[in-house]
Amino acid sequence: MKRLTVVNADQARRMQEELSAGRGPVREVVVVSGKGGTGKTSIVASFAAMAETPLLVDCDVDAADLHLVLNPVVQESGGFSGGKTARVREEHCNGCSKCYELCRFEAIVPQDGTPVRYAVDPLMCEGCGVCAYFCPEKAIAFEDAVNGRWYSSVTRFGPMIHAQLGIAEENSGKLVSFLRKKARETAEKEGRCLILVDGPPGIGCPVIASIGGADLLVLVTEPTVSGEHDLARVAELADHFGVPALVCINKADLNVEMSDRIAEWARKRGLQVAGRIRYDKAFTRAQVNRSTVAESAVGGPADDLKNVWERVLSTLN
Ligand code: SF4
Ligand code: SF4
Repeated sequence: MKRLTVVNADQARRMQEELSAGRGPVREVVVVSGKGGTGKTSIVASFAAMAETPLLVDCDVDAADLHLVLNPVVQESGGFSGGKTARVREEHCNGCSKCYELCRFEAIVPQDGTPVRYAVDPLMCEGCGVCAYFCPEKAIAFEDAVNGRWYSSVTRFGPMIHAQLGIAEENSGKLVSFLRKKARETAEKEGRCLILVDGPPGIGCPVIASIGGADLLVLVTEPTVSGEHDLARVAELADHFGVPALVCINKADLNVEMSDRIAEWARKRGLQVAGRIRYDKAFTRAQVNRSTVAESAVGGPADDLKNVWERVLSTLN
């Protein structure tokens, strides 16, 4: 694990001033969790409310939901292409069925009628290109697939870069990389020094695409056996990519013994615990009202979040 530098109070204040004034290098904080359902997005939304001038990114593109709380107003959007797809040009097809025989993904579908013609089921097509390569009539177009849309928006906390992946579309890792690149360009253009990323859960390709080159990871977990196990897996990933990480134990009071165990595990592994956040109905109330706990609650979980956020800021270097 890359060594963390915890700065003193003066340095933390200076850093906060730099971040507010849009000075200094762009820093990127990515909030991830080894598993879904830990409350990661609620935490990111509250961080967004507490940060002075953040640029927000929703990299949880397979199940994006940060927009539900932040109500972004779209300023610009575009299609995202992360792969290829095949399309039969019916007028050139002689019905030889070669593509049907060769496609291993059952994506070539015979059409009704005589003679039989063939079409591609776009939901089944994996974009391997075999059919286009072997079609004797060159009747199959092999084109860029539109896998989703990206958006550049404004929210009450600052600009937000987000996306919507199409149904059954893959390549979410590529989309995540695209969003992070777009976010950095926007941050530099608009003088925003802090990029705050809602990362995907798990340890798959989109998570890997979210964390490489980040300045700090916040690993959100919950006090359950699976939370502990999945935290270990995502911590390993952070190690592998040499990104510094802090642990945040959410809903910590639901199982104090397990929270203590996770904190002890983190300590032994050289990971710092940024703090514990209590379970509180304020989170549900905030979600229902499309707000954040940091905006709508006083004391209790709002204080927990504030403490964690201060720890995040004081750890950035
Ligand atoms: S291989 Fe080409 S010509 Fe033969 S059925 Fe498929 S699309 Fe038609
Ligand atoms: S590109 Fe590959 S997966 Fe798609 S239809 Fe052709 S052979 Fe099947």
